[in-house]
Amino acid sequence: MADINLPVPGSDFNTWGEKLNTAVTVANDQGEPANVRNIVSTDIATVGSDIEGALSAKISQAPASPPLSVFTDWWTTFQTGHGYTSYAGGAIVADTDDYLFGSQSLRTVVTPGTPSKIRNLNYTSPFDWTSKHIVLWIKADNVTNISELSLYIGDSNFGNYYRLIGWGNSAKQTLDNRWTPVVLSLASKASNGGIPAQNNAEDVQISIASVNAPVTVWFGGIGAVPDMKAKFPTGVVTFSFDDGFDSVYTDGRRIMDKYGYPGVLYIIKEWVDGAGKVSMDQLHRLENLHGWEIGGHSYSDAVHTARATGVTPEEFEQDIKLLKAWLRNNGFTSDSYCYPGGEQNQTVIDIVRRYFNTARDTEGNPKLNGLGYLDPLMLCQTGPGSGALNAIANVADYGGWAFLYAHKVGTGGISFTDLEAQVEACKTAGVEVLTPQQVVDRLKG
Ligand SMILES: [Zn+2]
Repeated sequence: MADINLPVPGSDFNTWGEKLNTAVTVANDQGEPANVRNIVSTDIATVGSDIEGALSAKISQAPASPPLSVFTDWWTTFQTGHGYTSYAGGAIVADTDDYLFGSQSLRTVVTPGTPSKIRNLNYTSPFDWTSKHIVLWIKADNVTNISELSLYIGDSNFGNYYRLIGWGNSAKQTLDNRWTPVVLSLASKASNGGIPAQNNAEDVQISIASVNAPVTVWFGGIGAVPDMKAKFPTGVVTFSFDDGFDSVYTDGRRIMDKYGYPGVLYIIKEWVDGAGKVSMDQLHRLENLHGWEIGGHSYSDAVHTARATGVTPEEFEQDIKLLKAWLRNNGFTSDSYCYPGGEQNQTVIDIVRRYFNTARDTEGNPKLNGLGYLDPLMLCQTGPGSGALNAIANVADYGGWAFLYAHKVGTGGISFTDLEAQVEACKTAGVEVLTPQQVVDRLKG
């Protein structure tokens, strides 16, 4: 008796019809018991909708979204002769097996209670980081245990210096063992001694501290990238709203309408038209009449609750396929996504990359996104609290992208007063308010 092989929901993309026909034919030929035919007939609807979703999503997959970068003016990539030495903490060694640029990186082990400090004083050719952001490439094997990452930059043997904070206790935009660009600017300034000249930087020190357990850290390079004020003269702010509460339409949009500002709403598809949730009509109005983006958050409520990392990669990909297909099948044009709960890992990121062009992380991270180097799938957010107003002021002064977020507007969410204050701050500072797709399109253009 021949085997009956049904197509597998969520896969067999190019052969499912053939497999289904074969299975039905074999079942009929064999006079197979009714339960097999029942499997075919009852599952066919599921298989059909899955495949429809998969095919639609495949057609509407986002183009690849590589990091957007411009020329980096390297200060060092830690090749032979780099001139950096250990000033405190663990020794530094050249790692010729694990590197990012050239053919080696620097590696150190950071012991709790003993921060590692590596520095290079008196660069023979001082550099100019006026109108630039600093990018520090780093990797760590246990990000959670890093309690601080700072960069000191100055002159006169640190007679003058700025101390810029890359990561604080709960502010890490990365994953374990992932090379990550930490973008710093004067917006990241924690303190200073004297007033160093930005056009004459001679001294650089990286300080990194750990808690609980030793952390192995690799340094790939330090350099400067443009602040991109040429394209975004006063910086840029995005207002994002997660999940799909109806108050985003009734009150979020109402408040932002004052200056015609668009936002992005990351929706859970199964919430649409639910009680207290945004309706399909409102979604269309937001996109078509108010210039908003309708981005994706999850298809099913269950996956949103479980987080992308709480289901199997297959289950997650099925959800995101259906989400993207649903967006496209209903006329929404966004390629923007937001990780449920901000939870992601490399597998999740690699799946998202196939369907969306940008993805916002919701980790508690006070930093701004630098526009001279941007990983569109690791966009960091600035919370709805007082940090939002600082972020707006910082992008106006120093360039960059402040990505604000909220859920509900009004009771149980961001207050009308706070949202109004953010909107007014953008207007007063002359900061542009754009959606994620608009930002990325201008960077690419
Ligand atoms: Zn959410």
